[in-house]
Amino acid sequence: MNSLLNESDWLQEFDWLDKQSDAMLQLVENLANINSGTFNLDGLKTVAECLTNEFGKLDGDLSILESHPQHSINSAGKPEQQKLGNSIHISKRVAAKKKILLCIHMDTVYAKDHSFQKCQWLENGNLNGPGVADAKGGLIVMLYALLAFEKSPLAKNIGWEVLINPDEEIGSPGSVHLINEIAQRCSAGLLFEPALPDGTLVSWRKGSGNFTFVAKGRSAHSGREFEKGRNAIVAMAKLMEAIDQLNSTPEITYNIGNFQGGGALNVVPDLAIGRVNVRIKTVEQQNQVEQQFAELVRTANQSDGISIEMHGQFSSPPKPMSQGTAELQLRIEKCAEMLGKQINWRGTGGASDGNKFAAAGLPNIDTLGPRGGDIHSMDEYLIPESLVPSAKLVTLILLSFANEI
Ligand SMILES: [Zn+2]
Repeated sequence: MNSLLNESDWLQEFDWLDKQSDAMLQLVENLANINSGTFNLDGLKTVAECLTNEFGKLDGDLSILESHPQHSINSAGKPEQQKLGNSIHISKRVAAKKKILLCIHMDTVYAKDHSFQKCQWLENGNLNGPGVADAKGGLIVMLYALLAFEKSPLAKNIGWEVLINPDEEIGSPGSVHLINEIAQRCSAGLLFEPALPDGTLVSWRKGSGNFTFVAKGRSAHSGREFEKGRNAIVAMAKLMEAIDQLNSTPEITYNIGNFQGGGALNVVPDLAIGRVNVRIKTVEQQNQVEQQFAELVRTANQSDGISIEMHGQFSSPPKPMSQGTAELQLRIEKCAEMLGKQINWRGTGGASDGNKFAAAGLPNIDTLGPRGGDIHSMDEYLIPESLVPSAKLVTLILLSFANEI
């Protein structure tokens, strides 16, 4: 696979990367200091402007692509639409026989009014800050790997497409159509979620689905006409209890994550909303859960005066190990070997855009970003000395593809 790639093919590119560590770190810090919570459209726009400048250096075709709105159910049980930020798409040599997808998100889980907004240096030399690892560090690793790769004469042999999306942290509802389109045009995918702190990469991922149940009953005065009321909270509580009872194996988990309903205590409540996150490992389990939920709702709807509706779906199908993924893993292991490193792999319950690319038929590895940890918390940190080695590994992966054409 990479047998014909020899040291002279990457020496110059690596020399250049070795001199970029300060610049890379500075960019990560600058980006992390700009809030880009998924719903902070102004912040996302500022980050996109900065990225457009930086990725402009690749001299590809750059365009800004609009997202679809997010559909959700609000606290009144009504459907609602929420506008999302735009994606950045860059491509080069689109006519090439082989094209590689590179993708990572620019949104973070920290909203504009969250108290975690700025980077600070930790005593152990790590950088603490919102999104430093997930995934602003990944954006910069992706950029510098491409900059280094483009310096090589081998680069002309393959094409690539970059997708930077604004909504991964809520499951990419606005950019999944772009993911599905690009997956059809590329032969392998590299995604830049952070590697684990010890450098382990993620192999398989569970799938994830969010479901919202809306129960409607009948309100009545609790003193005067209690018997006329139909209590939506009680109906929803029974349904949530039944769903919780489905938990029997760590392979499939049902998390009752949110419950709303009721108001004044002298009113029989006529509305309750329950929200559930489900994680599964296989498509068969996904089908099984969908059937279970349909059955439970059907049963609940047999109660007099109660109606329950279900909304939602598995937005991230499971990402099982496939032949294509195994081949890509082997390639990455060989590239790491050239760097004198060994790669360890593990599965995880967390989903990423890698799930969606895999479901659309594109084998991918999705943790090629720098090492870091405690993501989605105020302790999130980046291990700065992992930036250059991560970029080197990705440069080698790209060179290995370019070398076999
Ligand atoms: Zn992420």
